[in-house]
Amino acid sequence: MTGRIRDEAIRAVRERASLSEVVSDVVALRRRGRSAVGLCPFHAEKTPSFTVSEERGFFHCFGCGEHGDVFAFLMKAQALTFPEAVRRVAERFGVPLPEEAGEPARRREPLAAVNAVAAAFFQAELRGPGGGRARAYLRERGLSEEAIERFGLGWAPGAGEALARHLRTKGLPLEDALTAGLVMRRDRPDGAGGVLDRFRDRVVFPITDASGKTIAFGGRILPGRPASGDPPPKYLNSAESPVFRKGHTLYGLALARDAIRKADRAVVVEGYLDVIALAQAGIGEVVAPLGTALTAEQLRLLRRFTETVIACFDGDLAGRRAAARSFPVFLEAGLWGRGAFLPAGEDPDTFVRAQGRAALERLLASAEPLVEAFVGELAGAKRDAVGRHAEAAREVARLLKRVREPHEFDLLVRLAAERLGVREETLRSEGAPGTAPVAAPDEAHALDAEATLVELMAEDATVAERVAACGIIAEFQHPEWRRAAEALAQRDETEREARLEALPRDIRERVVRRLLEERPDVERERALADCIARIRRRGARGEERRVRDEIRAAQARGDSEAVEAAMRRLKQLMDETQAEKLAHRSPP
Ligand SMILES: [Zn+2]
Repeated sequence: MTGRIRDEAIRAVRERASLSEVVSDVVALRRRGRSAVGLCPFHAEKTPSFTVSEERGFFHCFGCGEHGDVFAFLMKAQALTFPEAVRRVAERFGVPLPEEAGEPARRREPLAAVNAVAAAFFQAELRGPGGGRARAYLRERGLSEEAIERFGLGWAPGAGEALARHLRTKGLPLEDALTAGLVMRRDRPDGAGGVLDRFRDRVVFPITDASGKTIAFGGRILPGRPASGDPPPKYLNSAESPVFRKGHTLYGLALARDAIRKADRAVVVEGYLDVIALAQAGIGEVVAPLGTALTAEQLRLLRRFTETVIACFDGDLAGRRAAARSFPVFLEAGLWGRGAFLPAGEDPDTFVRAQGRAALERLLASAEPLVEAFVGELAGAKRDAVGRHAEAAREVARLLKRVREPHEFDLLVRLAAERLGVREETLRSEGAPGTAPVAAPDEAHALDAEATLVELMAEDATVAERVAACGIIAEFQHPEWRRAAEALAQRDETEREARLEALPRDIRERVVRRLLEERPDVERERALADCIARIRRRGARGEERRVRDEIRAAQARGDSEAVEAAMRRLKQLMDETQAEKLAHRSPP
């Protein structure tokens, strides 16, 4: 199935789906009050904080903050795209999906087709008469037939346009092959055009998205080939395309997913052959970035499956440096990360082939937290160099500002203080995340009312509409609560979800807690009226103060007419406040 799915259809699927049934495939749920709880599939925990509200159709983890509806759950748990998740749920609950041809579909799906045909072509070439040298090379690298099959390895022949010709015979448009980055245009001096295969004379590694669909290729030259002209790069990847972004993709993830979840850890290595060697040795929970340093995006992808990510580094100084540099990236993805350091001159592939799985397991078990490498690198060799420590402390403080979790903040402070020989308090005060401006005591009540109003809006869509209609949101003073209220006032469901998703975690958390509580309707109506009144009173008080100032100024100028007008306005305001206090007016 292809195409974009209409919003109404998405809503229909969401309504028919049972969230707890879908979640139960992955999590053992126990009923608790109006909701069900279980161990979170997105972070490691011993006591259940993963909560499912069937009635309201969302899940929330009070441990790691993951949150969403049935589609979000599948996207996170199975690494599906949104359309894939919708289709999966629709099939399961028997909801027919009308398809809508849209621009994105025209651009994405043909690339999937051309990549799939290319993958099959490369695989057939490896098995064919032209693939002899490549097969010998892979055998020499210790790859089994099963591994070659499982990872879909192939061979790109050296003739300039073998793939291009094959795609043509399959009736696939050249444009698609160009967009997918499989072929390149070449301009000949004689003015004749034509195309050239991007991968020539290379062992080819298909690169898939997390669901296993081929989106790109990596190619490696065979060793010892005399190169004519400029020596070609050892590794080459497909060019980025609408379906392939290097920094957002991990090699081997689709095959490693289940193993990662089962082992509750992921091992990150550098090369394609490292991934295959480890998987072949029985360590299936292994992935690699695509020839660049790990990105936070890639780590977030991994974090859907585990909180324990072990990256392998060289044991030398450069390796230590690389480990230190990677720590802030891990932190940005909400992970602490561990580093396993290999003996000098070894990579995971050679190490596991020479020493065996048990030795590699020991190495992984001894992996140290990346924060150690990070702080160690900052502290440097000269432990008494004062200037250097001040600078290091500032660096840590900068990093601390990005840490949201209190216990992570504490841990980093303590470690850094100890290593750098600075006082914890210094780091704490310098690194404290920016706090909201402190409200004056008489304003605190109204701020609280803003928060409660947001909770009430989240609880009931009709309340959200009424609150939006009475115009009170414009009087909110706390920026986050105002943003939350504005998000909830959105009629468009997708837009609302997106905006809620963007709220800071503590705000979302409060909203969710409220949703899970049981509360009689009467009490809710009273709270609603009370909150609106409190915010209005604050507004009125502010307006009163302003008018009083105006009166004083007008008196000083001797402008009796202005004094008169301001006095009338003041009286009106005071009357209104009085009336509101008496009537406890309910919202429209
Ligand atoms: Zn969690």
